[in-house]
Amino acid sequence: MSKGVLAVVSGFSGAGKGTVMKRLMESHDNYALSVSVTTREPREGEADGREYFFRTNEEVEEMIRRDQLLEHAKYVDHYYGTPRKYVEDMLAEGKDVILEIEIQGALQIKDKLPEAVLVFITPPSMEELKKRLIGRGSEEPEVIASRLSRASEEAEGIEKYDYILVNDRIDDCAETLHRIISSEHLRTQRNIEFINRIQEESHIFKKGE
Ligand code: 5GP
Repeated sequence: MSKGVLAVVSGFSGAGKGTVMKRLMESHDNYALSVSVTTREPREGEADGREYFFRTNEEVEEMIRRDQLLEHAKYVDHYYGTPRKYVEDMLAEGKDVILEIEIQGALQIKDKLPEAVLVFITPPSMEELKKRLIGRGSEEPEVIASRLSRASEEAEGIEKYDYILVNDRIDDCAETLHRIISSEHLRTQRNIEFINRIQEESHIFKKGE
């Protein structure tokens, strides 16, 4: 069985990534969504172990020391990190693993695992982003302001991603993401064993043999 694809999905806070991921999981069954650790407070409706593992600073720092996180970053004063074991186990099982993380973490992943595919999800415009963040109603105005300011920093890094995806309609966006990841399976570098076999078999047809 071939190894799964590691897909890193980033996008401005409020770009609708979470909803797109949910749709992707509902409509296809070969995906595993990594659950991150964070030191931020749970939002209403979030459950420990489902949206995040909610942990203290000390706990996350201990995980970092023990090299239990594949990547980690600070985002608006809180730690966020990807537990290593789940990702490695799922990839080995052939699942396509999705990390929904911010840009510093995404670039750490690209460094460590260059075969990962990096996708940036953006709303159609920044005005739309502001509307969505305010409409969500889950954050104080100061937090919204820091998230928008962070978005402006993150926008500078979009070219470092492999793909850009505009989240206009959730269904379309989820399907396009699925097609991007499916195509990754066809990269020659991921199919060396099969290629070797075809090459070997083709030798029979060499002239003079
Ligand atoms: P939120 O607080 O809105 O859930 O997430 C804030 C930001 O942290 C989002 O951009 C989200 O993608 C990112 N994030 C979530 N989990 C991780 C993680 O494990 N590592 C990194 N680097 N970023 C994460």
